[in-house]
This record gives sequence, C-alpha cells and structure tokens, in this order.
Amino acid sequence: MKAFTFVRARSAEEAAKTLGDSKTGLLHSGGCDLLDRMKERVAEPDMLVSLCDAEGLSDIRLEEDGSIWVGARATLARLAEASLVQRFLPTLSEAAALAASPQLRHRATIGGNLAQHTRCGYYRHKSFPCLKRGGDSCPVRAEGGVQEMAGIFDNETCASAHPSSIAPVLGSLDAELVIRNADGRQAFVPSFESLWASPKKGRASDLALAAGDVIEAVRIPARDTKQFVGYAEIRQRKAFDWALVSCAVRYEMDADGKIAQASVWYGSVAPTPWRAGAAESALRGKACTDETARTAAEQALADATPLAGTTYKVQLAKVALKRALAAARERA
Ligand SMILES: Cc1cc2nc3c(=O)[nH]c(=O)nc-3n(C[C@H](O)[C@H](O)[C@H](O)COP(=O)(O)OP(=O)(O)OC[C@H]3O[C@@H](n4cnc5c(N)ncnc54)[C@H](O)[C@@H]3O)c2cc1C
Repeated sequence: MKAFTFVRARSAEEAAKTLGDSKTGLLHSGGCDLLDRMKERVAEPDMLVSLCDAEGLSDIRLEEDGSIWVGARATLARLAEASLVQRFLPTLSEAAALAASPQLRHRATIGGNLAQHTRCGYYRHKSFPCLKRGGDSCPVRAEGGVQEMAGIFDNETCASAHPSSIAPVLGSLDAELVIRNADGRQAFVPSFESLWASPKKGRASDLALAAGDVIEAVRIPARDTKQFVGYAEIRQRKAFDWALVSCAVRYEMDADGKIAQASVWYGSVAPTPWRAGAAESALRGKACTDETARTAAEQALADATPLAGTTYKVQLAKVALKRALAAARERA
C-alpha cells in the first residue's frame, strides 16, 4: 500500500475543507470498500480524511417537519435496528438488515454505502484494462469477458453494476442528500436521480459529487398520504455477499383504490442505481394486483440490454419487482 497521511476530521465541514486542500485525498468512513481498493492499489490517495471522530454525523432523528435525518456515519446495523427507521422506513431497515454480514453492517456507513465503487472484478484488478480506470474499453463486454455480475442497463460503455442495495430504497423514498462542499457550505441534492451519472472514461465513481464534497446526511421527506413500500432482493447466499438484484417500490393509492403515483428502483442492474420509469408508468392508474405486477415487471425489463452472461438477471429483476410489490401489499 502506498504511504498516505491520515487526518481525523472533527466535523463534516472540517473534512470537506481538508479534503479540498489535498491533491488526491479521499474520505474514510467505515473503510469496508475504501481499504479494499487501497490494498488492491486501485485507490492510491495521498491523504485519508477520516470521518470516524466527526461529531453529529451518526444521528438518526425525526425532524420537526416530519422528515427523517440519517447522518452519513449511521451504520447499516443501526439502520436495521433503530426503532424510528423500523417504524417509518421499514424497507430501509429491511435492506440494511439483509446486507453483507453482521461484522460489516457494524462498520459500514450509509454515506460510504452510497459512495462505494463497483465490485466489477476488472475494475478492482489493476492488471486488467478498465474504462473506469482510463482504459479504452470495458473488458466485461469483450469476447470471453466474465459477465455474471455485470449490469443489464446503460451498459454500452461500461457494463459494471452499482452494488448498493440501500441506494434503491433511498431512491424509492425520494431521499435527498445533504452535502458539505469543499468551501465548508451545506448544500442539498433534492433529486436522488441527479446524484448519478452514466459511466465515463477515467471516472472511477458514477456518483456525481464534486471533488471534496462530503455526504453529511440523507433526508427522507415526510408524506401526507399513506405510503405502500416493499423491498425484495435475490442473492446467491444469505450472508457475506452482495445482492444479484435488488428492488424497492413505493406507491400511493387514490380514493378509487388505484395507484396514484409509484416509484420503482433497482440495484445491481446498471452502473448506477436504476429507476424503472416504465414500470412506474405501468403501475399508475391500476389496482395493485398480481396481473398489474406482472405487466409492470415486463415493462421494467423491456429495454434491458443483457450481455450473454447476464440474461439470467432479466428474469431475476422481474421476480424482484413482483416480490417487492407483493411485500408492499402485505405490509399494508
Ligand atoms: C462481503 C461484502 C458484502 C457486502 N454486501 C453488501 C450488500 O448486500 N448491500 C450493500 O449495499 N452493500 C454491501 N457491501 C458493501 C458495504 O456495505 C460498503 O462497502 C459499505 O457500506 C461502505 O461504507 P463504509 O462506511 O465502509 O465506506 P468506506 O469504505 O469508508 O468508503 C467508501 C467510499 O465512499 C467514500 N465516502 C465514505 N464516506 C463518505 C461520505 N460521507 N461522503 C462522501 N463520500 C464518502 C469513500 O471515500 C470511499 O470512496 C458489502 C461489502 C462486503 C465486503
């Protein structure tokens, strides 16, 4: 591992300013993703700015306006166990409880989870060329490429998949991000979708934050109307692994028992968390029946562009959406 300076920031503001002054500095939170990348020499920062001692970053609280504030340093274990999250954001609690392993959940934080990099084996292994590391093409797409964990949407330039199973839940809940800029100012990213950008040559992360931006918190807005929420994921094994596909849904009903508005998000199917707009349109105006779920699942995957090794993910993604909708109905 290359030598680096280790700085303990006492606040998000201090972290952002320190990071802004470094050349190739990176934030360190739980270290579950970052230290792997450093050991693999995929990340070689001159400085690590640790958030571990930063004050107030682990809060999970109900705000006066009814929204829920989750500090960037809240661990997945706390998300799974906090009564506030279990009561008001059950899909977030559920996804956090299923992620990784107990050891990792006690270390991994929500900020680091959103900013984690793809687990694509080519990206993570420096001896292979990789578009994200400045190469000319994506080896996953090349003949003989290992494709099983790749994405099935937006995979023309880079076929990686974003591994977070927490991000689709936050997307479905319309979460907004609270950011601390390099000049120390607080900013809000109100649209979860605008947080992500399609892959680009030489850009390791598709999280569209400026260099030096620190995620300070995630805020989940309050709703006036009853929300129906469901989450489903499909894994090869139940622990110490990532989901092959995850899916989170949220919808509201109108007075006639029809879906008035729906939000459908997938994880592990594209380089970024993936919003399934076609499924949302298919759900709108319909009663939430098995038939509606079947149609929405077909629509969600109609534009998928699987590679030879990922055709299986198309079916998994359909099943995940049907299960997430069924879970939402059952919870109601
Ligand atoms: C075996 C295994 C199984 C896993 N299974 C799952 C799973 O099922 N679902 C899932 O979602 N994840 C899974 N993970 C991933 C794990 O949850 C993430 O690696 C973890 O959440 C990252 O958080 P961290 O605090 O450790 O981040 P770090 O490793 O400290 O940081 C990760 C990245 O985020 C940046 N960063 C950290 N904090 C911030 C911040 N506040 N603002 C801006 N950037 C920041 C860092 O610079 C770094 O680039 C798994 C990991 C392992 C090893």
